[in-house]
Amino acid sequence: MTRLKKTTALLLSLLWLLLLPACEHLLPSEESSAQPAAAISADGDVIYTVDTVPPFSSDAYVPINGNVPSFESKDYTTKAFEHYSELDALGRCGVTYACVCCETMPTEKRGNISQVKPGGWHSVQYVFVDGRSLYNRCHLIGYQLTAENANPCNLITGTRYMNTEGMLPFENMVADYVKETNHHVLYRVTPIFDGDNLVARGVQMEACSVEDNGEGVSFNVYAYNNQPGVVIDYATGKSRLESASDISDSKQKRTYIINKNNKKIHLPSCDAVASINKKNKQSYTGTLSELKQKGYTPCGKCLADS
Ligand SMILES: [Zn+2]
Repeated sequence: MTRLKKTTALLLSLLWLLLLPACEHLLPSEESSAQPAAAISADGDVIYTVDTVPPFSSDAYVPINGNVPSFESKDYTTKAFEHYSELDALGRCGVTYACVCCETMPTEKRGNISQVKPGGWHSVQYVFVDGRSLYNRCHLIGYQLTAENANPCNLITGTRYMNTEGMLPFENMVADYVKETNHHVLYRVTPIFDGDNLVARGVQMEACSVEDNGEGVSFNVYAYNNQPGVVIDYATGKSRLESASDISDSKQKRTYIINKNNKKIHLPSCDAVASINKKNKQSYTGTLSELKQKGYTPCGKCLADS
């Protein structure tokens, strides 16, 4: 490029950036009154904690800040970048932030990442979990977006449920948009830890498409690092089957084991589950009332008070 061309290009991009308002100015805000206000840091950044999102109930994710991402106007760029925070003193990941475009996407198949052991990692299986393993090495910024393979600053201990039900739909949305338009998307994933816990309680995911000011893609959601049917100790990553005493709300969606023959509903921890014939045994994620409507009745032992 000649010097003149370079200057012109620079001026044009500066002008374009000045004209470009942030997503939040263009998109309608749907503030939920039930949601407590998030804290504001000294720098004016909005900080979410486990206390400022609704507790996990039936959804894998919830919108936060009215689904409006909190990027700053100065961040809007069509120059690809990727940032992965250094691990903290406890070996935990921090904010990951990228300007995703075709350039940052993988050109080859994902490699092996099993050598990475994120904080709180345990290889543990439950028969009713999709793929059996409770935990996945969960990319904060999905491999399909920035091609980060075994980067320990981008991998956390995440439940299968969070990985596939909470995060994947949003990653796919961004990937599809970029492939279709060849545009750029600001994309930030922040793991949210409670105190010194080794396992994150969830992740905040924000995105805004750059060239069309969020018309193609714009979201700000919190995905829960939960697994229906399993109780997780977030301090250590240890886990156990949910039992009757963990259940305080029968309207909550959870994972049950049903016997299609005698139409009984069990918790996965019930002793009776082992003796159900394989062809009659099925796991079901939903509410007790849904199952009752289908003609099922709670087991007298594990769900005595339901
Ligand atoms: Zn039972």
